[in-house]
Amino acid sequence: MRALLSVAVPAAVLAAAWFLVPRMSELPASLAGLKVYGVYFVLALGVIVSLAFRRGRVVFALLTLALAYAGYVVFLKSGLAGFQARTMFAALCLFVPFNLAALSVLPERGTFNVHGAQRFAVIALEVAVTWWIVLAARTGITAWAYAPLAETTLFAASPIPHTGLAMMALGAGASGVAWFIKRSPLDLGFAGAVIAFGLAMNGIATPNVFPVFIAAGALIFTIAVLQDTFRMAFRDELTGLPSRRDLNERMMGLGRRYTIAMVDVDHFKNFNDTYGHDLGDQVLKMVARKLAEVGGGTAYRYGGEEFTVLFPGTDLNHAMPHLEALRGEIAGYKLALRAPDRPAKTKSVKRQRGAFRDAKAVSVTVSIGVAQRSDKLAAPVDVIKAADRALYRAKNNGRNRVSR
Ligand code: GH3
Ligand code: MG
Ligand code: MG
Repeated sequence: MRALLSVAVPAAVLAAAWFLVPRMSELPASLAGLKVYGVYFVLALGVIVSLAFRRGRVVFALLTLALAYAGYVVFLKSGLAGFQARTMFAALCLFVPFNLAALSVLPERGTFNVHGAQRFAVIALEVAVTWWIVLAARTGITAWAYAPLAETTLFAASPIPHTGLAMMALGAGASGVAWFIKRSPLDLGFAGAVIAFGLAMNGIATPNVFPVFIAAGALIFTIAVLQDTFRMAFRDELTGLPSRRDLNERMMGLGRRYTIAMVDVDHFKNFNDTYGHDLGDQVLKMVARKLAEVGGGTAYRYGGEEFTVLFPGTDLNHAMPHLEALRGEIAGYKLALRAPDRPAKTKSVKRQRGAFRDAKAVSVTVSIGVAQRSDKLAAPVDVIKAADRALYRAKNNGRNRVSR
């Protein structure tokens, strides 16, 4: 469901572009400036937003789109005939999707630093190569870009050569895979931008198609950066659970009946000391996965190894079995350790790890304190405090239990 909603945004922008193209010529004279500067405006807006939110990958993607648009204005506006136009068209077909594909899989490394300089250098090199082919009249290279990759008439209707189509498929594929793995709106933005660029190139002979779809690509990126930033603010990075900020907002809109549980991992400091922070993080992720599946409630990361489960419209007695099931799930889960290296398996290590060790797996338990809203506990903060006191009792009574 959420995946479908994320796809809806770039799809809507592309549909709007589709709708806009035939209507561009009907724009009144007073809006003529929009036709000339509209693309630059949208690109500049995207760059400003990406710089402000430190999304260097998008800055360079937008720079690529801006250069593509410049190439279009200088060489392609009056058609694809002639060596210079053909060369520029082929260069865009190959370099733009390549850059988008590379940026979609590369890690975020900012803009104004060594990594940014390297990325900028690659783009500058692409411009230089294109320039050189045009100036040195290397017709052979341009002809190579247009050589069909397979004997098929399937793509004959498109001006894009096979090599370009292959590169665009690579770009959409790479960003699509990145999205499948990371589920970040930015990855989807890259995929949407590759498609927007492909449509821009495909319709290059039709007036207004290229600028409108380049602007659409820039807009897709801008919205994706905003979505990604929003997601960062309300989601915890390590566990993927909604964050405390989200909980605070949710608590403002609660009705007269709800139950809150505070969940705390038992002896987690010891666990970290024994197995290290990395394995500790793995365990927190596992606990969060179980929490996300809790029936009837929504789990939040409250902070550190503490979580909150909110049961709106539910009283304590109805929340209890879900929490008991959750506790059991976590206690019964064995997190597999990576194959232990034989030499390290000395007696001292064994003894040290003994508390948590079960052959090649580790496990943890959680204690849970729960409270419901009542006339005495009218505000959400009061309910949280009561749940915290119950949690304290759960700890004192031996941990790995739910207390009310
Ligand atoms: P208790 O059973 O009484 O809750 O004992 P405890 O050791 O869990 O309690 P305490 O609150 O003293 O320790 C919490 C520890 O959780 C401290 C810190 O090392 C660990 N912790 C907090 N946040 C993280 C995190 O994001 N990753 C990892 N690996 N450890 C964390
Ligand atoms: Mg704690
Ligand atoms: Mg703890």
